[in-house]
Amino acid sequence: MISPHITLEPNHIRLPGLATVHSHAFQRAMRGRVQRPTHKADSFWSWRGAMYQLARAITPDTMYAVARLAYLELALAGVTLVGEFHYLHHDHDGRPYANRTVMAEAVIEAAIDVGVRICLIRTAYLRGGFQQELSPAQKRFSDPSTDSILYDCQTLHSRYANHPLVNFALAAHSIRATPLTAVQELSRWAAQQNLPFHMHLCEQQRELAECRAEYNVTPVQLLADHGLLNERFVAVHATHLSEAEIEQLGQNRSFVCLCRTTERDLGDGLPATSELANAGARLCVGVDSHCSENPFEEIRAVELDERSRLEARMVVGGADFLLDVATRQGYAACGLEHAWLEDQIALDRRGIAFTGLADEHLLDGVIFNASPSTVREVSINGQTIVQDGRHPKQEAIIRDYQLVIDKIF
Ligand SMILES: [Zn+2]
Repeated sequence: MISPHITLEPNHIRLPGLATVHSHAFQRAMRGRVQRPTHKADSFWSWRGAMYQLARAITPDTMYAVARLAYLELALAGVTLVGEFHYLHHDHDGRPYANRTVMAEAVIEAAIDVGVRICLIRTAYLRGGFQQELSPAQKRFSDPSTDSILYDCQTLHSRYANHPLVNFALAAHSIRATPLTAVQELSRWAAQQNLPFHMHLCEQQRELAECRAEYNVTPVQLLADHGLLNERFVAVHATHLSEAEIEQLGQNRSFVCLCRTTERDLGDGLPATSELANAGARLCVGVDSHCSENPFEEIRAVELDERSRLEARMVVGGADFLLDVATRQGYAACGLEHAWLEDQIALDRRGIAFTGLADEHLLDGVIFNASPSTVREVSINGQTIVQDGRHPKQEAIIRDYQLVIDKIF
């Protein structure tokens, strides 16, 4: 039987819109530029050095152009909601811009211009790490206290409160960049506002070692011990977890956002996805670094990478389950569960990708084989922004991006 949320039309397969819950739009400018050796032992941390170099070159204008290209590419690929984990806030020396929220507004305006929904996840970054000063590059990410972070949230909320494409969430960047006391304070505030609370967690083994050195426990255990896991909590990555931590995320019905194309790119390791799902954690997916812009690959990787880890098949869930991960769960992780059926995409039913598939197998064909080029229409909040596989502003957006990239590199 075909999913109740799929509609078959003579030329189209119509699905709910896809959510990408975790994005850093400016990192789109790195695509294809960080795939050659630079160190004797390249790693996540050497990649991070290259990312910091790029972050130094981003201004509000370049942020807008790069984010507009990233969101255009996502929209053409069937993404209708982007969760933007936004941590590049301030001017080069770390001082706030005259308009403190100009960088956040650059990404919000980029999404509005393309016509995709954005959940701006205002991210706290308070220190370089445990007993570590901020590096010069990190100053742009950082705030002296949680007060200025909450002030910015309120400013943004009042500016965009009535915009149908814009909503907000809060994040602590990571346990290394946000002391526990600040995580507690921000989490409390998010609870009062009923906002989702996101956090990078357990992506790399080094993070676990640093957390043990500071708190004697690993990050998810630390949050569980302090009552910080709940149904609005979104753990991004959650790659290296103990069995107890998997249980804690599950029992609290927290979200786990898997970003498999980026996690593969960065050598992060393989998460225990089926154990997380069986424990009760709610899975969703994210494009993260934009190293690849294929939301269908992010979705199927939830199952396929777990097959590689377990050396077995059918281990997390089938096409219905994975569609739910990419749509309803993703919208819920961005605080938009009520809106998940308001946005739709239509794929080319007659194209070569799905040729020969009986109706009952079409959803399997979509989830396990579709590419962005099969997307023909994208409708968001009642507006069709992609028709016949084209967006009306795509030439202008690509041209503006090229001009900006020529200046950055
Ligand atoms: Zn991230």
